[in-house]
Amino acid sequence: MEDIKALLDKKDWTAPELAALLACRGEEEQLLFARSRAVRDATLGNGVYLRGLIELSNRCVKDCLYCGIRRSNVHAVRYALDGEEILGAAVFAHRYGYGSVVLQGGERQDEAFVAFIERMVREIKRIGDGALGITLSLGEQAEETYRRWREAGAHRYLLRIETSNESLYRQIHPRDARHDFRTRLECLHALRRCGYQVGTGVMIGLPGQSLEDLARDLFFLRGMDIDMVGMGPYLEHHETPLWERRGELLPQTERLRLGLHMVACLRLLMPDINIAATTALQAIDPEGRERALAIGANVLMPNITPLTNRANYQLYENKPGMDEGAAASTARLVESVRRSGCEVRLSAWGDSLHFAQRQGQP
Ligand code: SAH
Ligand code: SF4
Repeated sequence: MEDIKALLDKKDWTAPELAALLACRGEEEQLLFARSRAVRDATLGNGVYLRGLIELSNRCVKDCLYCGIRRSNVHAVRYALDGEEILGAAVFAHRYGYGSVVLQGGERQDEAFVAFIERMVREIKRIGDGALGITLSLGEQAEETYRRWREAGAHRYLLRIETSNESLYRQIHPRDARHDFRTRLECLHALRRCGYQVGTGVMIGLPGQSLEDLARDLFFLRGMDIDMVGMGPYLEHHETPLWERRGELLPQTERLRLGLHMVACLRLLMPDINIAATTALQAIDPEGRERALAIGANVLMPNITPLTNRANYQLYENKPGMDEGAAASTARLVESVRRSGCEVRLSAWGDSLHFAQRQGQP
């Protein structure tokens, strides 16, 4: 207990010290959570920003070994929303006071796709005269593509590094040029050059991942001076190659606990960034996202994908929120955020304070 108190008062942790914080339990855990929450409240207040998540397609050219919509999964029922469906979801977001939308989907680099996204971004910008912030999460792209989408009006991009341990990265991806750690890293730099607020993150509780790996992941996020983070527990999917290694996994409740500890420790390391309370936390515990908000996260990404397609976007099994996003559940969401001691800030972009400060804005 005294050790954790002393650690919390330290400024610069070593990887083993940070791993010890990630492993803490009981009263020590409560100390960690109280500290991370206090840092969030002092730096950002208790406001929570909403990003309406639109899962626009599960067609993907990649074959990540952990993902249920990987190209080799012949059982995944493939779909792509059309322009009308995407814009309909964005109009819904605007009407119900979600300040931003996130367009997420499988990876494609063909010109038809790139041009379609460019058009969607332009059209979403016209809703309410530029009222909606736009985040993209569409994987690795050429720098020119990132630039086109940026010029069309997208201003944030999420691309998780998945793990900062290159050898672990190789174990969870096919070993080919399309799944290269260095390329992913280079994409994060390209996004920064194009002027995006850059978000990344990792999966927590992967087979073969140690606490020190996770500690180094947190140092990686700080070292990259990242603006936003989305990270959550790894969840198994039986139609993926990584399912074979399920015997090595921590129980899901432990992965949830680690997920919360990662959020708390990251908040201590990077007080002014945006941290999402992710859906994967909710997949393990219905209150998982609220628990993350209570200890330092400040962004929520409710799913607003049309219900007909939502079930086909299964990155992992037991995906929650299949009925979320309807008007009634938006009200429920505001209420549940309140129970975590936070307040939803409706109709606000909620840009990362970290980004604003790096740009020299107040
Ligand atoms: N294709 C894009 C965006 C969609 S995938 C991309 O890969 O960047 C978005 C995120 O879902 C991935 O970055 C990964 O971290 C997460 N994900 C995929 N499969 C998962 C699983 N089985 N468990 C937990 N998270 C998973
Ligand atoms: Fe495709 Fe993203 Fe899934 Fe990898 S994680 S297979 S890139 S959707």
